[in-house]
Amino acid sequence: MAKEKRTTSRARTTAVRTGLGGANDHGAVAPPLHLTSTFTYESFGVPREHDYTRTSNPTRDTLGQAIADLESGAGATVTSSGMSAITLVCHLLERGDVLAAPHDCYGGTHRLLTSLHARGQFEVQFVDFTDPGQVRDAIAAGPKLVLVETPSNPLLRITDVKAIAALCQEAGSLLAVDNTFLSPALQRPLELGADLVIHSTTKYLNGHSDIVGGAVVAADPGLHVELQWWANCLGLSGAPFDSYMTLRGIRTLHARMRAHEENTAAVVALLASHPGVSSVYYPGLTDHPGHEIAARQQKGFGAMVSFELAGGTDRVGKFLDSLEHFFVAESLGGVESLVAHPATMTHASMDPLARKRAGLSDSLIRLSVGIEDPADLIDDLTRALDQLARPTPIPAQLTATR
Ligand code: PLP
Repeated sequence: MAKEKRTTSRARTTAVRTGLGGANDHGAVAPPLHLTSTFTYESFGVPREHDYTRTSNPTRDTLGQAIADLESGAGATVTSSGMSAITLVCHLLERGDVLAAPHDCYGGTHRLLTSLHARGQFEVQFVDFTDPGQVRDAIAAGPKLVLVETPSNPLLRITDVKAIAALCQEAGSLLAVDNTFLSPALQRPLELGADLVIHSTTKYLNGHSDIVGGAVVAADPGLHVELQWWANCLGLSGAPFDSYMTLRGIRTLHARMRAHEENTAAVVALLASHPGVSSVYYPGLTDHPGHEIAARQQKGFGAMVSFELAGGTDRVGKFLDSLEHFFVAESLGGVESLVAHPATMTHASMDPLARKRAGLSDSLIRLSVGIEDPADLIDDLTRALDQLARPTPIPAQLTATR
């Protein structure tokens, strides 16, 4: 028989233990994976707790419980990707409703909002969240939903969630925060006054670059029920196998985040002091414009860092191709280090003018710092940056004298 729960758990314990030692699992410590599309009825007209996996599944529900508890929410709807999580939130809007979103958000989010707006599903207003006047005016107009990405992808801009939540409350707007870059280990937007938290669980929550998934956490139980209804109606629900993997990943979330951050501190110190780098974007740097807000609302500065190479765009390809421990790849948040060129990769779907307006240059490089030995990461980056400074050797046939 399962022991009665007598205490509430702290976040790290919740992350490790959610779903372990279930009452009907033969004493198994790790929970089973319920790989089934459908469930038998007890008898005609008498369904069990679960009847069809698109609607609910024990493995996915356990993951939802873990994410909701970690984000201090009433419930979490687990979806098939981060984009389906955002699609789900968009279905809270009706024709004519306004959604205010950052002009420098993740390229896929920008594409989704622009495309749904073009179809007339709702109105979109892209806002520069670093401009307080613009933000105040946009929210004072009473949009149905305000979407915030903090830190933002890829420029690591910080938005003051508490301040925006106060404006939203006054205007009667819902506030959704994309918390993908930090995870609940480092930031809990609902505790700062947001109504919804969005995750691409593909990233830090799963942490091993082997599934694609998403989640929407609601502070209000009624809103959670509405989101569950839409996820089932639209067929956005996450798969049981991916849910199982993500639940497994979450057990090491806090330990991974500590290692990610430790390595990132070393990487940022190198980038900030290397002559081959002209600017570094990392909220942990004291001269970052969002540093003070980040220090207040986050539990850490995370492991995403972007920077510009001195000398501009021509050097990007050579730099990326000479890295060995950073794979050139989309995505982020896995244990392995990755490097991306936002202009041609993560934000390629944004038109060049929108990218320029968002401050996203063609020489910007984004790192997702992994948990390898930091000395290897530092050696790799140092070698790749140093070789840019060396003049390219003149091919032998051009220097040979006859
Ligand atoms: N939100 C942010 C901040 C992201 O960086 C991404 C993907 O990179 C997404 C949402 C979309 O997530 P997914 O790729 O899981 O659909």
